[in-house]
Amino acid sequence: MIKLIAFDNKTTLVLEKTKKLSLYLCGPTLYDHAHIGNLRGPILFDVLIKLLKTEGYDYRYYQNITDIDDKIIFQAQQKNQSEKTLTDYYFIHYQKLFQDINMLIPEFIKVTDFIPEIINFITKLLQKKAAYETDDGVYFDTQKIQYFHSASTKPKHLSNDLNKINLNKKHFADFALWKKKTSGKKWASPWGVGRPGWHTECVGLIDKIIGQTLDVHGGGNDLTFPHHFNEEIQFKTLYSQQPLAKFWLRNGFVNFAETKISKSNPQMLNKFLTKDFIQKYSANVLRFLFYLSPYHQDITLTDKLLTYSQHLESKVTNIFIQTRFYWFLQTKNTIYTLKEFDSKWWKKFLVCLKNNLNTTQALDVLIKIIKKINLFFVKKTNNEAFVLVNTLKKCLDVLGIKIQLISWDQQTLNEIKQWQKHLETKNYVKADCLRKILQQKKVLV
Ligand SMILES: [Zn+2]
Repeated sequence: MIKLIAFDNKTTLVLEKTKKLSLYLCGPTLYDHAHIGNLRGPILFDVLIKLLKTEGYDYRYYQNITDIDDKIIFQAQQKNQSEKTLTDYYFIHYQKLFQDINMLIPEFIKVTDFIPEIINFITKLLQKKAAYETDDGVYFDTQKIQYFHSASTKPKHLSNDLNKINLNKKHFADFALWKKKTSGKKWASPWGVGRPGWHTECVGLIDKIIGQTLDVHGGGNDLTFPHHFNEEIQFKTLYSQQPLAKFWLRNGFVNFAETKISKSNPQMLNKFLTKDFIQKYSANVLRFLFYLSPYHQDITLTDKLLTYSQHLESKVTNIFIQTRFYWFLQTKNTIYTLKEFDSKWWKKFLVCLKNNLNTTQALDVLIKIIKKINLFFVKKTNNEAFVLVNTLKKCLDVLGIKIQLISWDQQTLNEIKQWQKHLETKNYVKADCLRKILQQKKVLV
């Protein structure tokens, strides 16, 4: 049973195994490379999806791609490119991150592929008299919607937010469904040329592609209001108060404390690009860094946290280095083929993730497994260690942690055989010398 619990404990969702689940994550706006905070939602969803797969659930996983927006138009003008050239470039890089971080690929939905459907969605809201047209666009009429006044998620400061005043709107909380535009990429509509407003894109896509209440809708905590709130009031208006999602899976921010990296490069203080991070550290370090905090909490990136995440990666890597080595000594085979695993530890690990994706507890289980494996290796009860290594591997797969060892060449194999011979003949000086070489090559730890 996989259970999701909202951080305020107000909502709990037990995911149903008997139906095809629908999951939707608010995706990126393609005007720049993604910084590491942008990847927290996709990595959280990836763990959930991998867990669903492991447990044999049926699902569809979508992520929208905002490929038209004021920021995109501005960037494209700055770079003297078309919006499409700009967004195609960043989309290729965004997809590469999914490969580099070992994430399952969602069904990506590009906004520009669904403009007629979004226009149709806005038309339905107009027909319901929940929207009105002005000189500069079509707006959602928040004051006509009973739900808007009763919604508990609406921030209290909203009524004082004078900055949002736009004289074309009836009420400052009303938001654009369609923006009439004369510059930048635009499409024809019953209300003149322009492009959709951001809050109507996601819900328009969900309405077209899923057509019903989602099981899980996600995004960062910062999207709760106004984005998710505005998405939901449109859906509820059209479908007699039917909720847009059964569960909102929202992740915390990544904040940047002053680290060694940011000291040497102040630009990185607020914007650590994911591609740079995984090149400097690794995708595994990024994942560990996220897993060390509950998903809904903010993370402050510090040297200590980075060092600990790196430490976890090397701890895990060392296990696989040792396993390959001992397996070779035992079987004379470089390919590890044992399939047996420890169901007790596997279950312990799964229980953590099934309980609201508790990755911090799941890491505790991993650390315990690693300690046990090391103990078995010390005691030279390798077969018991191998079974636990398989268990560890299964756990790491669900967490998307991929350990790649450098393969051995012929020279390395000869060195191992030579080392064994020196040990047999009690030539310990020469054996030690070879041991050091093998350790440097990360054949031994
Ligand atoms: Zn959205």
